[in-house]
Amino acid sequence: MTITGEMLIGASAVRGTEETFYGINPATGEQLEPAFHSGNANDVERACVLAEAAFDAYRATTPEQRAQFLESIADAIEAIGDELIQRAHAETALPLARLQGERGRTTGQLRLFARVLRDGRWQDATLDSALPERTPPRPDLRMQKIAVGPVAVFGASNFPLAFSVAGGDTASALAAGCPVVAKAHPAHPGTSELVGRAIQKAVADSGLPEGVFSLIMGVGNAIGTALVAHPAIQAVGFTGSRTGGLALMNVANTRPQPIPVYAEMSSINPVYLLPEALAARGEQIARDLIDSLVLGVGQFCTNPGLLLAIEGPALEAFRATALAALTGKPAATMLTPGIHQAFERGVTQLSDIAGLSRAACGLDATGPNQARPVFFETSAEQFIADHRMHVEVFGPSTVLVTCKDAETLLAVTRILEGQLTATVQADAGDHALAARLLPALERKVGRVLFNGFPTGVEVSFAMVHGGPFPATSDTRTTSVGASAIDRFLRPVCYQNVPADLLPQAVRDSNPLNLWRLKDGELGRA
Ligand code: NAP
Repeated sequence: MTITGEMLIGASAVRGTEETFYGINPATGEQLEPAFHSGNANDVERACVLAEAAFDAYRATTPEQRAQFLESIADAIEAIGDELIQRAHAETALPLARLQGERGRTTGQLRLFARVLRDGRWQDATLDSALPERTPPRPDLRMQKIAVGPVAVFGASNFPLAFSVAGGDTASALAAGCPVVAKAHPAHPGTSELVGRAIQKAVADSGLPEGVFSLIMGVGNAIGTALVAHPAIQAVGFTGSRTGGLALMNVANTRPQPIPVYAEMSSINPVYLLPEALAARGEQIARDLIDSLVLGVGQFCTNPGLLLAIEGPALEAFRATALAALTGKPAATMLTPGIHQAFERGVTQLSDIAGLSRAACGLDATGPNQARPVFFETSAEQFIADHRMHVEVFGPSTVLVTCKDAETLLAVTRILEGQLTATVQADAGDHALAARLLPALERKVGRVLFNGFPTGVEVSFAMVHGGPFPATSDTRTTSVGASAIDRFLRPVCYQNVPADLLPQAVRDSNPLNLWRLKDGELGRA
């Protein structure tokens, strides 16, 4: 497939007319051909008008048709072959094996949502029979969920495939029946175009209206702002910085018709190192934790940026092993010069805080845009007192907070911001403390995990990749896993609607053979 540097607006390929930009190889600084050109508000208008025009026909497709469409996108992405991996590698410096795994995750997500569609529970079909004899009489009530409308999806810098053009936001929105206007992340425009063309082909091959998918491109905030402000757009999926997410929420909230922005932004993912676990296997935990910290140059939203433990000899042994392991870790190339600068800035800001000491650093950088892993430490009292230590530094940076006892550990937990994950390293003798911790963690995070590490998010039915602000903008939702579809659905109730006018999901004959809640009983009746 040839990368042309064009946006994809419906079935057309369109060259932007604004600022020229290129994919950049962050490992070498090399400018990658071809040139891309930012689109403008007219391009956004065309994409959104097409999306709105496609919406009713697209949402009227059967779940089976949409399932097959999602599978054809997965097939088309696989058909691009090694070119996709090579281009993503050049644009992001992420290792080839990681990108191959990420492609598998991306196509797996699309296929998961095909299963979700066939399963049918996403429609939440519910029927309350009429009770004409009751006083007052109850009308016939039926409810199903329908697509919200065209969705804007912002590709993430750190997952050029799985959280980008055909990532989880796009897959879940398309599954729901929402056309998607995707905004490519400017750090990987060539990868975005390749994937966008795969979706464009799947739209055509599936005989769907062209406006079901568009891909717009640009640098600077103007095009993303215009997209969120466009009246056709009814919801937004975003993964990126807290600043960016808040800016887009502000745009969405100040529209004449405000819309939801599902933004995944910032998390430091506390890891609790409970005493028995540290005593039994502290050195192994230390080595594995440092591996998790530097994985992907720390550029994961689930990166372990905060370690919490109770003082004592086991913690000292853990600390010595962790610092030794970190000291031997090489500096590695970050995704973009901007993300590298933000990392350096964040590390400098942490280093300037009195009461926070830099205990160890990894090896010196040997090339451009390389981050050196860094390990800070402080006491619980100082951590509680200084909010600057609570802020995410995106990259391989972590802070160890030493607590004098279990009460202090719980006190630190209570003042944490919302998080995507919390990890608890606990052995059987720690369970009494873990039992006190768990209810506190439920209030703070989207996912609690025991005796593992937070990096690595399974795509499945029970996964939650969400959490209270600033982890996400809407604590009720997840951006990974089957439940991600709920963000792009809304309930509609049909009261006394004539039988022949009812949607299939709530007809008496149950033609879709759905699991439904009928008069309070779950079944296929
Ligand atoms: P970003 O700056 O938030 O950008 C993400 C996307 O949103 C880009 O397409 C960007 O395009 C757009 N955007 C950002 N601010 C906007 C605004 N005010 N108005 C309209 N559009 C806007 O994120 P990034 O480029 O991926 O990385 C920067 C920082 O984000 C990192 O250093 C890290 O701190 C954080 N980050 C966090 C996560 C996480 O999962 N927690 C993941 C990735 C990045 P334009 O710039 O072209 O407008």
